[in-house]
Amino acid sequence: MPDLDLAKQAILAAVDDLRDDLVAQTAEFVRIPTVNPYSGDSSAGNEQAGQEFLKGLCEVAGAASIALFDCPSDVFARGGLIGPAGREFAGRPNLVAEFVLGGGSKSVIVNCHVDTVGTDGMEVEPFSGEVREGALWGRGTSDSKGNLIVGLIALRALQRVGATGGRVLYQSVVDEECNGSGAGTLACCLAGYTADYALVLDGSGLYPCTGCNGVATAEVRVSGRAGHAAHGGAVNAIDKAVHIKSAIDQFKAAWEAPNPDCRLTLGVFRAGTLPAIVPAEAVLQMNITYPHAQAEASQASGEGWRAALMRGDFEQAMRAASAQDDWLRAHPATVGWIKDVYPFRTPDDSSVVRAAQQALTDIGRPAAPRPMTAWFDAAHLAVNSRIPVVGLGAGLEGEAHGATEHILLEDLVSGAKAVALALHALLSPDRCGTG
Ligand SMILES: [Zn+2]
Repeated sequence: MPDLDLAKQAILAAVDDLRDDLVAQTAEFVRIPTVNPYSGDSSAGNEQAGQEFLKGLCEVAGAASIALFDCPSDVFARGGLIGPAGREFAGRPNLVAEFVLGGGSKSVIVNCHVDTVGTDGMEVEPFSGEVREGALWGRGTSDSKGNLIVGLIALRALQRVGATGGRVLYQSVVDEECNGSGAGTLACCLAGYTADYALVLDGSGLYPCTGCNGVATAEVRVSGRAGHAAHGGAVNAIDKAVHIKSAIDQFKAAWEAPNPDCRLTLGVFRAGTLPAIVPAEAVLQMNITYPHAQAEASQASGEGWRAALMRGDFEQAMRAASAQDDWLRAHPATVGWIKDVYPFRTPDDSSVVRAAQQALTDIGRPAAPRPMTAWFDAAHLAVNSRIPVVGLGAGLEGEAHGATEHILLEDLVSGAKAVALALHALLSPDRCGTG
């Protein structure tokens, strides 16, 4: 461990003192199901109950104000984005708690999501919050309820030591998971919550996460003609969809070769109801992740910070595939876009990245900054609100959405220490030289 100044030493000691609270509160939080209602799960939970639990913790921690508010139903349109249509947000509030830490003009948003993916197929009891083998087990431990408690414990440690001045906006948001596209974080941005910096605690592996790919979700509909399975004259949409799928495979190969961190993943291929009926329609849905350069190119061509060029190329590829088939020439496959959420990058030498990197070095867990391949909420803070943002998540790599989701107790503690030191540096630049 490097030599640390007295304030940093005191902050780390305060987190150690709060370790029992950190573990117990995470366990209690995991026992409150907050499964995203669009998880497809048979036992979708209740994000509101999770927010009420956090509200209680924020009150005890001395929040200056606490707001609970639902996302507007047209949140994506208001943000100028294509996002999942028709989602219900009533009774699924976001929480924003403001904490004032003594005098200081700087402010930081601490953001993480309260919703989890579903629990069907889990191999451990999803809501046990059990502690064993140096880990805490259950849905949301790594992704990302553990990180929400990490943020609160970091705040409490800073309050105890009293060496940090400034303002923290603690945000617990809904609808990040299950194609959610960050509705909760976008709603916070649109509501006008802003700060000098943002730390997004959703994530794994405790490293400074400096960006993410964008992601566009396409839906391709392929028509046939319905008929009796025993008679002629029908056109089987499955056969036509297989033809279209081969064109998607070709597009995938051409897309991924120059973009090794990007993927086209076909996640839905749906057709037919009964063996006695020739299916009239097939539906294919896929996620296509795209690099920062694609958004730059789209913007340069006047199409905005999104994947307009890739989307145009994909639509052209589907038209070309339809033109190769007699039936499809007259009944071409159609392409719709379910979402297109943008990528972002924060420069490695920015204050917020350097604060996270220094914090990790100070706790003896040095890690180089790098972007992640999957999309996450930080993109809304970076692109919509133009806030310098870094990801700093203590989840266990590979456990998010997993059948045996858990988080290491040591990572919870290290996460709280890293977040506390990063906040201290960002809020009190004159005291730490991180400016
Ligand atoms: Zn997450």
